[in-house]
Amino acid sequence: MRRLAEATAKATPVLEARNATKHFALRGRGSKGHEVHALESANLTLYRGRIAALVGESGSGKTTLARLMALAYPLTDGEILLDGEPADPRGQKDRRRYYARVQLIFQDPFSSLNHLKRVRYIIGRALRIHGRAAGRAEVEAKVLQLLERVNLTPAKDFIDKFPHQLSGGQRQRVVIARALAVEPAVLLGDEPVSMLDVSIRLDILNLLAKLRDDEGLAILYITHDIASARYFADDINVMYAGQLVESGPAEAVSQQPKHPYTRLLLDCSPDPDRRDDGVVDRFDDDLGEPPSLIDPPPGCRFHPRCPFARDECRTRLPELTSFDDGSWTRCWLYGDGGHSHEPAEEMLTR
Ligand code: SF4
Repeated sequence: MRRLAEATAKATPVLEARNATKHFALRGRGSKGHEVHALESANLTLYRGRIAALVGESGSGKTTLARLMALAYPLTDGEILLDGEPADPRGQKDRRRYYARVQLIFQDPFSSLNHLKRVRYIIGRALRIHGRAAGRAEVEAKVLQLLERVNLTPAKDFIDKFPHQLSGGQRQRVVIARALAVEPAVLLGDEPVSMLDVSIRLDILNLLAKLRDDEGLAILYITHDIASARYFADDINVMYAGQLVESGPAEAVSQQPKHPYTRLLLDCSPDPDRRDDGVVDRFDDDLGEPPSLIDPPPGCRFHPRCPFARDECRTRLPELTSFDDGSWTRCWLYGDGGHSHEPAEEMLTR
């Protein structure tokens, strides 16, 4: 059912990162004064009943942004807003209230569960801490309900299992059930299926899509796999070397990518339906490594790998250019920014 998502699409922002910036100070001999520029001025909004994918290579800043939105790190600059209000927890109570709305799901379900505790305790503890249930009978009833919601059925067969008695997919379902126990509005999924067998990834993604559709959850789906983002997400945000470079409706970004890096990502996951103008053929096989974030390249951070780089790309951060299909990009191929443009001629003719 997409009724809830479609009815509220783009209408209700729940969680927002505004100009979120994170620099990590390096520690150790000889590193004094050096920083990792992990994330620069990222703007990302999650809407009720919508899945936003955040796509990019390892080390591009995707996890940093999710953790900033989960208040796991302090911001270097910018702000996080929950329901339109700046998230500024002053103590444990404030933090607990925040986590009752925003839950983070980690990549590795095994390490995010207590191996020594049964499923009953793991989920029941979240219910108790957040005051969602009290007393043994009520907690047990709610744990069983949650297991049913994540399709661990019959729930009675799972409630007394230890994590090591479950498969990877079943463990990730327990992690999701624990997140749902606090009745959140937002799930931040940090590569939630990348450590699972390919055969069960789709089951978990379908479960998240069901939570979006049936319960109106706002979901962030972090992945390096733009193909799964295309089929699963409503919006796609592309991140490169700590900067968001393209964003928009999944259809627009996947079918008519604007930024050369997005085109490269799509080239690595071929799609027979995509309009192909041959641009991707112009990327060399040997593109080199992503840049160091300790001393990132000036201007557009993609310029050392980009076959379309011009002089201005090496010195000036590209301005934002928006398009009629609802997407935007930061790339000098699209002019001065702020207006809708046709795809850059250079992209089509070079
Ligand atoms: Fe390539 Fe320049 Fe666009 Fe960056 S701004 S992606 S270097 S053309």
